[in-house]
Amino acid sequence: MWIILKKICVYLWIGFLIVPQSVMGENVKMMTRESQKIQWAGIPFDIIQSGKSNHHFIWIHGDEQTAKMALEDYMETHEGKALFIQNHEREIPFETTTVDPNRIFSHEGSKKALRKFKTNWTKKQFQNALSKLDEGRDDFFKELFPEEEGLLIALHNNSRGYNVYTEESKSTEVSIKKNQNPRDFILCTDLSDFEKLSAGPYNIVLQNRRLIEDDGSLSWASLERGVRYINIETRLGWLSQQKKMLTYIDTVLLTKND
Ligand SMILES: [Zn+2]
Repeated sequence: MWIILKKICVYLWIGFLIVPQSVMGENVKMMTRESQKIQWAGIPFDIIQSGKSNHHFIWIHGDEQTAKMALEDYMETHEGKALFIQNHEREIPFETTTVDPNRIFSHEGSKKALRKFKTNWTKKQFQNALSKLDEGRDDFFKELFPEEEGLLIALHNNSRGYNVYTEESKSTEVSIKKNQNPRDFILCTDLSDFEKLSAGPYNIVLQNRRLIEDDGSLSWASLERGVRYINIETRLGWLSQQKKMLTYIDTVLLTKND
């Protein structure tokens, strides 16, 4: 059983659909749409892949339904690969505890995540749980991270308290707009992306150097591996705002580079 679990990618089913790439233009291209299910150490994800593209997306917190809807809507009409966690809560059941799935993208982060909601691990239990996450991580990254020059975009929602000022001390540069709600902002890890996005209407922060200790989040894992990463953070329930921010990024960073 343990040996089987080491191989994290369990493909349960693959579906194909052909969908129009654009319903607006005269030249409607057709693109293939493929669905897969994978697991990382038993944590399930659905993957939707439309056409061939090095634009990758992830929805990682199950309670952030606005972000899920924004990404599903985008994938209806754009090429890309999107990973959706299969969960309805922020934390996901893992072994005999629950973990924040956005805190297990490094070995050090996983140690903290495993201890957050369970302190009475035996040494052996803890090492087993940690090894499962560690052994599956690289295979998961192969699915998640785009090829060179690609872009990985995560979509998140917040409820209260957390906002762009929370990220200020971890950022190397910030561009905060007076007429934007501080809870709606874009985090990026690439200087050139920051410069392009800053010229627009939204709050932008740049985190291209790790100024805090490794917290196991995807932004730091992406930065460490040289993957261009963007997080679109909006208030929960503000679907039109999150869609607008995603469309803006698509226009400035994705469509112009095609
Ligand atoms: Zn989130």
